[in-house]
Amino acid sequence: MSDSNDTIFGKIIRKEIPADIVYEDNLALAFRDVNPQAPVHILVIPKQPIAKLADAESKDHALLGHLLLTVKRVAEQEGLTNGYRVVINTGEDGGQTVYHMHLHLMGGRSMSWPPG
Ligand code: AMP
Repeated sequence: MSDSNDTIFGKIIRKEIPADIVYEDNLALAFRDVNPQAPVHILVIPKQPIAKLADAESKDHALLGHLLLTVKRVAEQEGLTNGYRVVINTGEDGGQTVYHMHLHLMGGRSMSWPPG
C-alpha cells in the first residue's frame, strides 16, 4: 500500500469507511463532500492514488481526462444544467488538505470570483 492510499479517500475507495457514493467505475469514484460548500458538492477521485495534481505524469493523461469527463457526467446526473464550478486544490498554497488528488464539483448556486 502506498502512502497516498492511507488517506481518508483511500479508505473510502476500499469501502473501509462509509461515503455517499454517487458514481463509480473502474478508474474513478465520486462521492458527496462531508462539508458541502454548495447545494451540490461532490468529490471525484482517481482510484489510483495520485497525491496531488503536481505529481501527475504524462502516463496519467488518459486518467486525468477521464476524471474531467466523470465530473461532466456526474454534473448531468445531478441536474446542474445552469453550470457548475470544478476546483482542484493543489499543495499547501492551493489549500489542499487531503493528499489524494480530487476534483471538487460544486453547483446549485451562483458562484463568485475570485475565490478566497
Ligand atoms: P481539499 O481541501 O481540496 O483537500 O478538499 C478535501 C475535501 O475533502 C474537503 O472539502 C472535505 O470536506 C472533504 N472530506 C474530508 N473527509 C471526507 C470524508 N470522509 N467524506 C467526504 N468528504 C470528505
